[in-house]
Amino acid sequence: MEIGDTRESIVIVGGGICGLATALALHRKGIRSVVLERSNRLPATGVAIIVHLNGWRALDQLGVASLLRQTSFPILSKEELRVLKRTDLISVLADNLPPNTVRFGCEVHSVKLNPGTSSPVLQLQDGTILNPKVVIGCDGVNSIVSNVMGVKAPNIFRICVIRGFTRYPDGHEFGSEFTLTRKDDTQVGRLPMTKNLVYWFMTRKHSSQDSAASKDQKLIRELGVKSVEGFPTSTIEMFQNCELESLHLTEYVRYHAPWDILRKPSRAGTVSLAGDAMHTMGPFLAQGGSAALEDAVVLARCLAQKTCVNPSGRGTKLMVEEALDQYVKERKTRVLRLSLQTYLIGKMFHTSSQFVKLICVVLLAILFSEAHGHTHYDCGSL
Ligand SMILES: Cc1cc2nc3c(=O)[nH]c(=O)nc-3n(C[C@H](O)[C@H](O)[C@H](O)COP(=O)(O)OP(=O)(O)OC[C@H]3O[C@@H](n4cnc5c(N)ncnc54)[C@H](O)[C@@H]3O)c2cc1C
Repeated sequence: MEIGDTRESIVIVGGGICGLATALALHRKGIRSVVLERSNRLPATGVAIIVHLNGWRALDQLGVASLLRQTSFPILSKEELRVLKRTDLISVLADNLPPNTVRFGCEVHSVKLNPGTSSPVLQLQDGTILNPKVVIGCDGVNSIVSNVMGVKAPNIFRICVIRGFTRYPDGHEFGSEFTLTRKDDTQVGRLPMTKNLVYWFMTRKHSSQDSAASKDQKLIRELGVKSVEGFPTSTIEMFQNCELESLHLTEYVRYHAPWDILRKPSRAGTVSLAGDAMHTMGPFLAQGGSAALEDAVVLARCLAQKTCVNPSGRGTKLMVEEALDQYVKERKTRVLRLSLQTYLIGKMFHTSSQFVKLICVVLLAILFSEAHGHTHYDCGSL
């Protein structure tokens, strides 16, 4: 593997939505970076992604929104709301990067700070040592990079999510409406993507069969169909006729507790975090991906503003640290609210105590009286 001279570079660990968006945001500001991705190709697990208005604002800043708007039609809503295939989002972000930005098959084994200089030292799985100037951990829920800051491992809600696509060759009859149907502890969301394609998700309490099913598409479908017994016929048929290869089962919903996000530092030297590595949240608001896009815009803006970076990426260590502090401060305010709202929804869904449920309902009503207020956020210009 050739990384080049990483002493001058910004290394982004993880080539998911956040890593690619961060590299693109930096590129738009004329700042070079390299993305180290452990897989051998672009990761695109998770079927589809709902993108609210705030996410579209970030995609606009990244200069890829108009391209992505062509791939799906808008859902009936007061403001922009669309579902994207994850593969479309990932490949559009990657295609807009300079060649050779993403290095595949590069798994980061550890990140440490040099005890003398407090500069980051990265060790890859193959033993290669890198000494980049800045490291941004976009390595997702089980982030290796966050170890350097002592961030606690995420918690789990024993909630399982199954997602998939169903194709309707003769067109579906669902219009362009997002519908959410609930029966006992099971909830099904349905979002038409085009006239012939529907994205759906189902959440319910974890069952003992979920572990065995997670790698077996036929079993996932079986579990899905079983879970929607008693739902309207159109829902049952949607599950029965789903595209097997699209199915994805998330066994447990993971999250960083709001108080952990508040307490833990998100910078150590010139190492910082973005996306799920910083703020994993339950999928109940469909905001994790959009928050990662916002992170990318804010991070690149802060780095560019504070360090007045020229194309070769220079800027003193202190300036970079100030930029990262500014970024963390701005983002913590935003993601704390998101993580608190998703935490309360998750807790309400997860708990068997009627009292705890009631507390969650009351807190949600008081703190988040405008339930969709989170979509109005504007991360600002790049
Ligand atoms: C069921 C479910 C539904 C969701 N639905 C939505 C939705 O509709 N809308 C929305 O906005 N969000 C949604 N989310 C949240 C969203 O998927 C995440 O917030 C988003 O994918 C986070 O992106 P990321 O790049 O931070 O992390 P990831 O997508 O996890 O990417 C991390 C990348 O880092 C790589 N990596 C990890 N470790 C290393 C290492 N050591 N070295 C090198 N590379 C490494 C991985 O291979 C991966 O490519 C949902 C989440 C779930 C669980």
